[in-house]
Amino acid sequence: MIEAVQIIKYANMLNSEKLSTLRSGNVSLRYKNGFLITPSGVKYSSLKVDDIVFVSLDGKFDETKNKPSSEWRFHKDIYSSKNEANAIVHAHSTYATAVSAHNKDVPAFHYMVALAGGNDLKCAKYATFGTQELSDNIINALKNRKACLMSNHGQVAFGDNLEQAFELAQEVENICHQYINTIKIGEPKILSSSEMDVILEKVKNYKKG
Ligand code: 13P
Ligand code: ZN
Repeated sequence: MIEAVQIIKYANMLNSEKLSTLRSGNVSLRYKNGFLITPSGVKYSSLKVDDIVFVSLDGKFDETKNKPSSEWRFHKDIYSSKNEANAIVHAHSTYATAVSAHNKDVPAFHYMVALAGGNDLKCAKYATFGTQELSDNIINALKNRKACLMSNHGQVAFGDNLEQAFELAQEVENICHQYINTIKIGEPKILSSSEMDVILEKVKNYKKG
């Protein structure tokens, strides 16, 4: 199945692009009346097509097969609440996780925070991994956004397809790396909301390839 092959490709890229080690994080793709998602606790390097799990939008999956990612609830809730979400990447990337441990939104210290969809990058409140509470907190932080941090945990990004979702996760990681360096040398100047409105308009037509 072509979709499962794609999921495995991007799951392995979590490792190779240093966004998540071994089996941490998860990847999914909208499919039929639900989505295909990486299984729980399986090392990405060992994934086979049959390991990828289908979960319906009402949260049902085949109990006799591999367990879906423990985070299937927030994947389900993102697909249910956002028509524009066709693929999701969750990562424990180093810099995003470091910033998330401070449970703070990242302000517009750089105009590139606009890639997440607004004039800041929100941080979802902490809740135990795999819970409905965590999913609710993520949905809250993703209001008018395509990516957010997850307190004391990592980040999540979605897109039109896996390539876009993965690239956004890479951008979030880069923004967090830059933000950590920025605050090391003092209080940064934050871009005004009127400047960010200009940027938000411009980034709509920015990416060419
Ligand atoms: P899963 O292996 O169950 O997807 O868990 C990884 C993870 O990142 C939990 O937040
Ligand atoms: Zn996680």
